[in-house]
Amino acid sequence: MKTPNERFALSSWRGEFLDPVEERAYRKHVEPMVAKHLRTSLKVWAGLLLSFGFLDFIALGWSVGFALIMGARAISAALLFLLGWRLRYNPHWATSGYAVTAMEIVGFLLFFLIHFVRPDIAIWNIGVTLILLICLYIFIPNRVVLSNLAAACGIVGTLLCLKLLGAEAPKLVGVFFFMCLPTVVGFAAALRLQIVQRQQFALHSEMVEINTSLQHEIERRESLEVELQKQATTDALTGLYNRRQYELLFHRERERSRRLGTRLSLCVLDLDHFKHINDTHGHDVGDQVLRHVAALFTRKLRQTDIVGRFGGEEFIVLLPETDLECAERLVDRLRQCLEQAPVEADGETVHVTATFGLTEVEAQDGNIEQAVKRADRALYEGKQSGRNRVVTASQEGSEDRV
Ligand code: GH3
Ligand code: MG
Ligand code: MG
Repeated sequence: MKTPNERFALSSWRGEFLDPVEERAYRKHVEPMVAKHLRTSLKVWAGLLLSFGFLDFIALGWSVGFALIMGARAISAALLFLLGWRLRYNPHWATSGYAVTAMEIVGFLLFFLIHFVRPDIAIWNIGVTLILLICLYIFIPNRVVLSNLAAACGIVGTLLCLKLLGAEAPKLVGVFFFMCLPTVVGFAAALRLQIVQRQQFALHSEMVEINTSLQHEIERRESLEVELQKQATTDALTGLYNRRQYELLFHRERERSRRLGTRLSLCVLDLDHFKHINDTHGHDVGDQVLRHVAALFTRKLRQTDIVGRFGGEEFIVLLPETDLECAERLVDRLRQCLEQAPVEADGETVHVTATFGLTEVEAQDGNIEQAVKRADRALYEGKQSGRNRVVTASQEGSEDRV
């Protein structure tokens, strides 16, 4: 794993990241902006090229020289517009720099023509070349190393043209030094800009990465919280509410039924001869039976009914807005469903039944314990009188209703 210093190390003369992955990421990041900037530069460049043709006309009038220069200007402008248009579809050309460098070199070649057609303004041509050299670095977005290449072509080409036009060595040396001046200034400015832009990108990347890892950490903690909340409120084997949570839910439902004046029934059930199931089929099958019972009850009851596991093979069901009579019918249907739906576990068919103790929650029930105690008493009676039945309990006592 690279340190940020290694990842974002910069070449001091190219102004680019040494790490090709980072350099690619940087170019991708700035691509739309650079492409837009470059398109604008190309348009300005083409506009200037064409407008300077007016000066040529004033000096040359309708002549072969004017036609030649204007032809060169028109070709350059056409190529510039063409490149600008293609950049819309290939914005990566802007950041790779090759296309614009080729355009700069072609531009210089066509510009050299002016030296021969208008040797009378040689000094102006050299002056314009100096301006072109600095513009090349400052106004045309390109990689510094490629701008150097274009500038070198411009310098060598200009010296060659002057040589062909008969310039002596001292003049050539002088012009060379003159041309080096804007080149060095432009190079230093462009290099500085490239380095600062990449340093900003490095900071931006680090910030994005830190934000992303923070976001992941927040999500991890949130899911951990959800998991902890789930573990604290539900039973791991069946996914039903555990006893602690169930007590809270009981209080909430009791308050709601008091406020709305509705009835609330509570049922405690215990699987019959579950120890025998464990002993005969093994503990794992016993667990599968518990899961089966939980799923069956959850499926068969209403969304508003609350099912919990009270421990071992005992379950509890809270039935809001249900009086004892309705609850009895509903719970007996559950009992029948359980009886008629044997569990297929490890290739074995296990028949399960349960005994249910049912009560209605009364106004004077201070807590869940009192209601559960009544339901438990009824359940005990159910076990005593043969199991697989529903027994309802009243405040005073209990009465068997198979
Ligand atoms: P009864 O009809 O009187 O209720 O008989 P029973 O065998 O169901 O009752 P008993 O209390 O004797 O046995 C309950 C058994 O439930 C004993 C215990 O090993 C088993 N048990 C409790 N919790 C679990 C559990 O999480 N998984 C499994 N597989 N068995 C459990
Ligand atoms: Mg039991
Ligand atoms: Mg039991």
